Amino acid sequence: MVDEAIVLEVERLRREIDRHNYLYYVEARPEIEDYEFDRLLEKLAGLEQKHPELITPDSPAQRVGGWITKEFPTVIHREPMLSLSNTYSTEEVGEFYRRVMKLLDRQEDDPSAPAFTAELKFDGVAVSLVYENGLLLQGATRGDGARGDDITPNLRTINTVPLRFRPFRNGDTGNSGGYEDSLIEVRGEVFMRKDDFATLNESRPDDEQFANPRNATAGTLKLQDSAEVARRKLYFVAYYLEGEVFGEMAHHVRLETLKKMGFLTDRYCRLCRELQDIQTFIGEWDRKRWSLPYETDGVVLKLDDISLRDVVGSTSKSPRWAIAYKYPAQRASTVLRKVVFQVGRLGTVTPVAHLDPVRLAGTTVSRSTLHNLDEIERLDIRLRDTVLIEKAGEIIPKVISVDMQQRPSDAEPVEVPEVCPSCGTILERPADEVNLFCPNEQECPAQKRARIEHFASRNAMDISGLGKAIVEQLVEKKLVSDAGDLFSLTPDMLQGLERQGETSSTKLVKAIEKSRTRGYDRVLFGLGIRHVGLATARELAEAYPSMDVLSEASVEELEALPDVGKVIAESVYTFFRNPVACSIIEKLRAAGVRMSSEESRTLVNSNFDGMKIVFTGTLERHARPEAAELVVERGGREVRSVSKNTDLVVAGKDPGSKLEKARKLGVRVVSEEEFEAMLFGE
Ligand SMILES: [Zn+2]
Repeated sequence: MVDEAIVLEVERLRREIDRHNYLYYVEARPEIEDYEFDRLLEKLAGLEQKHPELITPDSPAQRVGGWITKEFPTVIHREPMLSLSNTYSTEEVGEFYRRVMKLLDRQEDDPSAPAFTAELKFDGVAVSLVYENGLLLQGATRGDGARGDDITPNLRTINTVPLRFRPFRNGDTGNSGGYEDSLIEVRGEVFMRKDDFATLNESRPDDEQFANPRNATAGTLKLQDSAEVARRKLYFVAYYLEGEVFGEMAHHVRLETLKKMGFLTDRYCRLCRELQDIQTFIGEWDRKRWSLPYETDGVVLKLDDISLRDVVGSTSKSPRWAIAYKYPAQRASTVLRKVVFQVGRLGTVTPVAHLDPVRLAGTTVSRSTLHNLDEIERLDIRLRDTVLIEKAGEIIPKVISVDMQQRPSDAEPVEVPEVCPSCGTILERPADEVNLFCPNEQECPAQKRARIEHFASRNAMDISGLGKAIVEQLVEKKLVSDAGDLFSLTPDMLQGLERQGETSSTKLVKAIEKSRTRGYDRVLFGLGIRHVGLATARELAEAYPSMDVLSEASVEELEALPDVGKVIAESVYTFFRNPVACSIIEKLRAAGVRMSSEESRTLVNSNFDGMKIVFTGTLERHARPEAAELVVERGGREVRSVSKNTDLVVAGKDPGSKLEKARKLGVRVVSEEEFEAMLFGE
């Protein structure tokens, strides 16, 4: 039997977490910091691990995934998931509107004419969720509309998919809230935010990049390892609610209900009473949608009155009461000025087009990738050509075609370099490669820079302040030649660089210092082994708990790992036999960077060893999470409330009631200055 107090604590934590989740995702007005939220979740996960009998299927700590699905079972949809008919023309939207009015025998200017909802069309993957007694029972892909794949374990990891929805009727309080026998279906779109998409691509090898967030979402939902799905941060936006209890509730009321139930819905949805309102909405969002953090590709119009939908009916393929207007692909034409050949961290030389700046999909574009030499040949692109560019997946602009009619007489073919633009070494083009390659791995400045930038990137060591401009100067001034050298930098050495003052130099050295606490898997990824993305680095770190053991592994052993093929195995094996790589690893080891998974986090010092510290009031020098991290790096931890077990209270400006309590309990109180001294003191 588990202690009653623990049961109550687990229940309290779950309610708290659900509430904060709702405030954060649905209401977009969080009350606590992310790290505080993570702490609640960690606490719950800890209790559930200790007392597995307390685990329930709707516990938020169970979202982290971990189920491996070999094959997704097939699901037959209760109601077929019809696709909507599409149009790219606003005139056709008008025709659609008039057709519906005619089928309903209504005049267009009839003041009581039925309304339509206009919703933004998220560019993602459609899924269906079935709830029983308020609890998520099953989640499936659309598939062919009649049957899809059961991907419940993957969908459960998405924070905006409620595992149990909130009571939504007045007076509802209990868990089952009166829908014992009713099945409720919610449909919507799973999508990935633009920033999360960029981070995901950064963590993947060059040859495994996703073209756009939609592809990344589709690929993620098909993963067999739900823990990896959980890491990729997908979102779910709901736009369909069906169940007997809802009767003939209008569509826009259903959307409001979904929100009450804890689902994320399109907050920009508008009820349009006239065709003009619809056209205005479409026109307005053609511009505004570029500022959204996710991609939308159109507007969905639905007859709001559900009872009228039967009158209008459906064809075998799609309903007649709804239509999807899609914004035309975003293209622009501009002039190619020059082609610059860029050298990457593995020596690959990629052509980049420099263009006359042009507005495209909400941003100004002046660069575009040309991918490789074959692409230049295929397009027959020349300098001063007028080219058509498109945003593929609306993120990375790409040259689609050349306007031959407008080719000027002085158009010049692109000159393919023979030597590396960075180091002057003769370039090679290995057989069956589409790109040129600089073989000067050891000395090529461009390669050195790119490797260091990769090491410092978000998914690897996440060293803030170490941007392109600084890295360039560090390499040029020979202060740094590889990632291992970063740790011997001092503020004095940095101060000679452009735009580096005393404060920023000290800050950067601290950031480098701090990166030593990153996990061994991230160090492994940061080393930039060819074909090894973050996911593979994690797998290697799990199978080989230390860098030493991994460096000894044979190709055959490596190849035996589930997601490691021959190409990766050979690449890892070769890497550890490369003298340049070995010297970097030795430098990192000497600097105290983590080289194994067991190794506990490297402490800066043990000034707060075992101490529980409470912060109150505003700190001047550090943001709260940073202060908490400083404490952790010194062996202590932050706690949120003062008790007689508290070791120290740090009082900033305008301290709250915690200070009084500390005084009453006789807990030691220090000012921010004293805290600062304790951080670095002997
Ligand atoms: Zn080079």
